[in-house]
Amino acid sequence: MADIIKLLPDHVANQIAAGEVVQRPASVVKELLENAIDAGATAIKLIIKDGGKSLIQVVDNGVGMSATDARLSFERHATSKIKSAEDLFNLNTKGFRGEALASIAAIARVDLQTKTADEEIGTVIEIEGSEIKSQEVVVTPQGTSLAVKHLFFNIPARRNFLKSDSVELRHITDEFHRVALAHPSIAFNYYNNGSELFNLPQSNFRQRIVNIFGKKSNEKLVPVEEETQVVKVSGFICKSEFAKKSRGEQYFFVNNRFIKSHYLHYAVLAAFEGLIKPGMHPGYFLNLEVDPSSIDINIHPTKTEIKFDDEQTLYAILRSTIKHSLGQFNVAPTLDFEHDNNLQTPYGYKDKNAVLPKVTVDSTFNPFAEETKVTSSSSPKSATSSFSSYKKPSTESWESLYVETPSREDKSSGFGNLSFESEVSTKSIFDDSDDDLDTAAITFQLKRKYIVTTIKSGMVVIDQGRAHQRVLYEKFLKTVTLNEGLSQQLLFPIQLSFSLSEIDILNEIKDNLTTMGFVFGEISESVVEINGIPPMVAEAEVGSIFDELMADCQQNVGADGFSQADVLSKALCKSLAVKTGDVLDKLSQAALVNDLFACTESMVSPFNKPIYVTITENDIDKKFI
Ligand code: ADP
Ligand code: MG
Repeated sequence: MADIIKLLPDHVANQIAAGEVVQRPASVVKELLENAIDAGATAIKLIIKDGGKSLIQVVDNGVGMSATDARLSFERHATSKIKSAEDLFNLNTKGFRGEALASIAAIARVDLQTKTADEEIGTVIEIEGSEIKSQEVVVTPQGTSLAVKHLFFNIPARRNFLKSDSVELRHITDEFHRVALAHPSIAFNYYNNGSELFNLPQSNFRQRIVNIFGKKSNEKLVPVEEETQVVKVSGFICKSEFAKKSRGEQYFFVNNRFIKSHYLHYAVLAAFEGLIKPGMHPGYFLNLEVDPSSIDINIHPTKTEIKFDDEQTLYAILRSTIKHSLGQFNVAPTLDFEHDNNLQTPYGYKDKNAVLPKVTVDSTFNPFAEETKVTSSSSPKSATSSFSSYKKPSTESWESLYVETPSREDKSSGFGNLSFESEVSTKSIFDDSDDDLDTAAITFQLKRKYIVTTIKSGMVVIDQGRAHQRVLYEKFLKTVTLNEGLSQQLLFPIQLSFSLSEIDILNEIKDNLTTMGFVFGEISESVVEINGIPPMVAEAEVGSIFDELMADCQQNVGADGFSQADVLSKALCKSLAVKTGDVLDKLSQAALVNDLFACTESMVSPFNKPIYVTITENDIDKKFI
């Protein structure tokens, strides 16, 4: 057999490598910003068009490149940052693989302009799909400008895989935040489609945080400072009362590099233990300085995960340092966790408008007439669903005069028969019902988590949270689509502060929120005024609902109206639904069961989880064999 193994041509190898380095426009942004920082820039401009799909440009005032270096920088494994394997253990730069520019040039059209300090004339190179199109001299200031155009132009599958411009822009902004926070002493400008999103002057760390996340963030910050032999910790944590339902602002920087570490994250959580409710997330901006030889950044190609030599010690130091700061700045707990506002309103009322008691008078009713015609039109089903309204024992039978039709329906058998106190008499009414679910059945709450109710064939165990999510989800979806959201005017408008990118999202989803019943006042650079909210939303919850909403929308909201309505309904139902641990009274349990089975889809939650299981008599019988 002939030899069949061949070396891949360079441009193919580069394209394959690009798959690893460049997932989306934000990955290019990260690589270019890091190159600019490695080049010693003190001012960096980021210019984006169409979510990075048509243009990503980074202009820096760093050292620049000579004509030869400029040409070489696009070769794979070409780097000025390490010379030997040993250097890997003492890295002071962001880059070291020499892969980024080669990869980017393989899948886009790149224009490079660069000049060093000691040259008078710079170099301009155009390269497309790994092919040099031109190389010339140019008059240009010191530094480098790298423009990446038409990303994935030669890989349509990858290009189609990209999300909407606004979603890609959000990923870019996330990346920008990370780099800008890691380097407060560098000035950054960030433009999108011609308008300036951020203008960050050289500053200290605190000022940088405030410049990015808005003026209000200043009051949230508690400084953290500790120096040990192993690590120097500095930065800020957010006071516990500003903990969010969504993950929000959580940043670790190790030697000025943004990293993700579950382990260290838990160290912070451990420090906050007892100060914030379970399920809430503290914000933090923490810098760790360690000996570069004690970490290994090489374990992940996109380099947000790193390996520490001695994680356990770091964990302990971090936890005690943060605990100390929390204590020192007197942000001790004043929260009463036992008291949960959600428990104050039973489910049955929680999402309903206050309704005046209705007195229905049947004008045709004549007490002296012999017998009123029995209306049999009312099906057993409707009798079932309004059961709760007449289940009161009729010891005072005059009451039943105020009750809607059923009382008169059963007039033939006299008022006395309306006493449903005993299970037996209740049963007899619904026995011939073909409705499988019958709320007259015994219903109770199990472990503050499930609603158990009996049906003819056995019983149903319902997950209360998921059931409520389904009910709310369908309600919201309907309100948005039919544009019939009710709103409750607030006496005092609520002011919420947001970061610039959150304001962006808000502007995008505002119309849909308005149809749901939110009324917006002025939206300024970082503060949003809310004048009205849907009746089912409690005023005190508005802040955390918006938190969660922003977090969900960051990743998911697309441009088209339907998916927006869907994401919003999901986000709202998630934050408003009753949770495990919430106590539901009898009335609420019955209302929830009824509402659930009135839904178009009652089997699965909006997040595709099963809502209930049925256990038949047969299933139970089998257990006794
Ligand atoms: P790495 O950053 O891992 O070295 P890159 O492919 O990102 O690999 O860059 C290759 C080389 O090009 C770098 O090592 C550096 O010498 C040079 N380079 C890239 N961007 C710049 C820049 N903005 N200014 C100066 N030199 C740069
Ligand atoms: Mg690089």
